[in-house]
Amino acid sequence: MSEQKTCRYHPDRPAAALCQKNGHGLCSECLEDAHCFGPELYCKYRTQCIIFYTEKENRRARRQPQSAVGA
Ligand SMILES: [Zn+2]
Repeated sequence: MSEQKTCRYHPDRPAAALCQKNGHGLCSECLEDAHCFGPELYCKYRTQCIIFYTEKENRRARRQPQSAVGA
């Protein structure tokens, strides 16, 4: 019996990513603005955490290089 995990904020949506530490799921929409559930706490799953990885990528994407200056 495998229980389908759902989004922590949208119980009606399936989880696209899962916090292995807390067991919290995030749907694809929430994953677009993903935040680690415990960024200050040690997490042994962090190196393979989709949520943490996405959060990091999002932060980098938001802070875009100023190459478009003068456009
Ligand atoms: Zn959601």
